[in-house]
Amino acid sequence: MKKKKPESKFVEVKCEECGNEQTVFNKPSRDVLCLVCDKVLVESTGGKGDFKIETLD
Ligand SMILES: [Zn+2]
Repeated sequence: MKKKKPESKFVEVKCEECGNEQTVFNKPSRDVLCLVCDKVLVESTGGKGDFKIETLD
């Protein structure tokens, strides 16, 4: 049996609109919005998310 190893993880991002920092999945199944101001932080693409903002490392 093969085991898939998708590189899915959580990353810290900072909303450029309001400065809110939150943890998001890097492969979201749907768009991820800022919890504070509803700005789209990560757009769902079916694979790796399209990050609209900077990630904190
Ligand atoms: Zn925000």
